[in-house]
Amino acid sequence: MPGKNLSRDEAQQRASILTVDAYRVRLDVTSAPDPAAATFRSTTTIAFRCAEPGASTFVDLLAPAVRAVTLNGRALDPAAAYDGARVHVDGLAAENVLTVEADCAYSRTGEGLHRFTDPADGETYLYTHYEPADARRVFATFEQPDLKAPFTFTVSAPAAWDVWSNAPHQAVTAEDGARTWEFAPTQPISTYLTAVVAGPYHVARDHYSRTLDDGTVLDIPLSAMCRRSLAPYFDADEILGVTKLGLDFFHERFAYPYPFGKYDQAFVPEYNIGAMENPGCVTFREEFVFRSKVTDAAYEGRANVVLHEMAHMWFGDLVTMRWWDDLWLKESFADFMGSYGLVGAGTRYQSAWVTFANQRKAWAYRQDQFPTTHPITADIRDLEDAKLNFDGITYAKGASVLKQLVAYAGAEAFFEGARRYFQRHAFGNTELADLLDILEETSGRDLESWAAAWLQTAGVNTLTPQLTADAEGRITELAVLQDGEVLRPHRIAVGLYDRDDDGALVRTARFELDVTGARTAVAEAVGLARPALVLLNDDDLTYCKIRFDEESLETLRTGLGDIKDDLARALAWSAVWNLTRDALMPARDYVALVLRFAGQEANIGVLQSLHTQAKGAVDLYADPAWRGEGGRLLADGALHELRAAAPGGDHQLAWARFLAQTANGSEHLGLVRGLLAGTARIDGLEVDQELRWSLWLALAAAGQAGEEELAGELAADNTAGGRRQHTQCLAARPTPEAKAAAWSAVIDSDELPNALVEANIAGFAVPGHRDLTALYAGPYFKLLERVWAERTIEIAMRIVGGFFPQAQVDEATLAEADGWLAGHPDAAPALRRLVLERRDDLARALRAQACDRV
Ligand SMILES: [Zn+2]
Repeated sequence: MPGKNLSRDEAQQRASILTVDAYRVRLDVTSAPDPAAATFRSTTTIAFRCAEPGASTFVDLLAPAVRAVTLNGRALDPAAAYDGARVHVDGLAAENVLTVEADCAYSRTGEGLHRFTDPADGETYLYTHYEPADARRVFATFEQPDLKAPFTFTVSAPAAWDVWSNAPHQAVTAEDGARTWEFAPTQPISTYLTAVVAGPYHVARDHYSRTLDDGTVLDIPLSAMCRRSLAPYFDADEILGVTKLGLDFFHERFAYPYPFGKYDQAFVPEYNIGAMENPGCVTFREEFVFRSKVTDAAYEGRANVVLHEMAHMWFGDLVTMRWWDDLWLKESFADFMGSYGLVGAGTRYQSAWVTFANQRKAWAYRQDQFPTTHPITADIRDLEDAKLNFDGITYAKGASVLKQLVAYAGAEAFFEGARRYFQRHAFGNTELADLLDILEETSGRDLESWAAAWLQTAGVNTLTPQLTADAEGRITELAVLQDGEVLRPHRIAVGLYDRDDDGALVRTARFELDVTGARTAVAEAVGLARPALVLLNDDDLTYCKIRFDEESLETLRTGLGDIKDDLARALAWSAVWNLTRDALMPARDYVALVLRFAGQEANIGVLQSLHTQAKGAVDLYADPAWRGEGGRLLADGALHELRAAAPGGDHQLAWARFLAQTANGSEHLGLVRGLLAGTARIDGLEVDQELRWSLWLALAAAGQAGEEELAGELAADNTAGGRRQHTQCLAARPTPEAKAAAWSAVIDSDELPNALVEANIAGFAVPGHRDLTALYAGPYFKLLERVWAERTIEIAMRIVGGFFPQAQVDEATLAEADGWLAGHPDAAPALRRLVLERRDDLARALRAQACDRV
């Protein structure tokens, strides 16, 4: 097994002989504010038992230096025991105490203990992020989810700082300009769930309490933190309000008292993902603290994440998967609970399932059609596999399938199953069978074949209506045809839609039925008048792609926007996007639908995904000969809708951003410049800082923003966000020098923090700059293996995914990708997976372009 990896076999072997009783971890981060200090002192003491005395094992540790290793009072030679990734220990006793003292590195990649210095005020902030296996960058650990133990953290930090961890602190002592924070022991938890947050964070505090069934009162101190310079924008009341609704809701549904004492939520800088469910100490990306006006879709998205992480306190933290094969046991559930909770807990985001149907599922459909797709319960051989499986299958498809399970087995059986699952497996580890056993008890249904079809096979089914009518227009037959490698049982609703007196398309009939096999008749529909639209999977109960009969498709072409119900309309939008991706609808037809109906789209989240998809359709799926015209049509449409939108509303802001993304002609760019200069105004549109950067990006990409102007904007917004945006603007300029600088900044050095790596890649890869970036396709394929070997996996994934020549939609680039794959059969499987997926995107774009060619 190569250096930093850890295989499932090794983890199983280690778990078969070890039981961990306790960790004591002592960290000294007093050096953090000094940029010259690259490391901090870490001392770990692990008490553990071994079922086979005399055996050997290892602890995981990624540290620049190991100073001392002591096993059962015996000092070991660090040079001999430590190989750069593992500390090997031999001659274990039945009961052991191992102490490892190391110098660990402050991280700039968001993996381990990340250090960030705020350009706005010079303050330094730290936080940890570990999943799946980066606790070993901070202390010595048995880095696998099934070796749970209580952790006791002690952290010495600068005196002016506060420090948080999973458990509350018990004591704080001051000495020599530092303060040492002693935390209470945690409940038994997995290593990847431990956390430390430290720095001069701004804190908002609150409190939650509820009386439990046995009459005792559960008190949960709440807090929410962000960097001080973000405090003016921090709407902690809104966040804590959603938090309290969620705590009420999950206590009612799960009937298991929140087990981790207090509940802190830290919004932290340069965070790689959305959020992480560390028990009692959740971390979020700080972009959820909105510096400028955002649409309600952003608030909904944030509230969804708050509830997703909260659901993990039970699904994942209290009961944890044994190994990463069963990652879905926490992520699919948390993803489902995010939307379910938004609606059920009574938040103001009652259209959460619309968002789920339209956006979350798009992620699943895309992932599930890659050649690399996998069953929801996956085969995870090692940590690199694990890292790539935080994907559209594990989250969005899994959540979709749970939604289907609720439709199939009933909500009561589902939640009674959850309650028994927590009771039976509290503080333990589980696998698929543990959950299925319980769900079979509570539903009284045999779920083995259901699980085999839904959880243990890959791929998405397509459902197509087959409709015939007689001369009077009465339905003589309606059937649902199912396609796909594996045919599954689907509980679905079928909706029939017709125009009402106001011209809106409304549902006139609904049938709920079990679809099984290749063809299922909808008997109740026979004899009814043929409707204008047949919508399969109405109410979005199952996970599938839907198609339309010819007449329904014609109805959508002329009236998609007239569908009254938000969810039904979102499903129709999703279906026509899938038709476009599948090369069954020309990209220009999809663009025409968006231009025709997006202006009347009421759901702001759906509107924003229409913007993204329409732009993608022009950039990648349209015939190149039509691309220029398509781009102009989008920009004209954006300008038209921007002027027509209600002043000051979300839709106006969304169209303003879309104009910034599509602006190309002199009229659009002139308006962009006028908005920046204040010489042009759109009534009600506030050109705030984030919008300003979007507008600058439009000018930069068009070659109309000079370095000095961009520097001037940065001087006016010398913040973390400003630096990222400025970096992206520089990289987005259409010159060979700008592209070379962005490429080099990412590839030739590993000094850049994760956030600026991302900004450079985003700016570099402007699709319209394909002529400039074409030169880099060759070098890209040559450096893949080096990047994979030398960079941390988080950064390597961004480079491999982001620098793939995605905009070069041509046979030559496809051949180049195929050549690399054929020539590198032994490259790391995770690396091959990433390249295979990008290659598949490219092949899909070629098919779509062929469909669009007239
Ligand atoms: Zn999650």
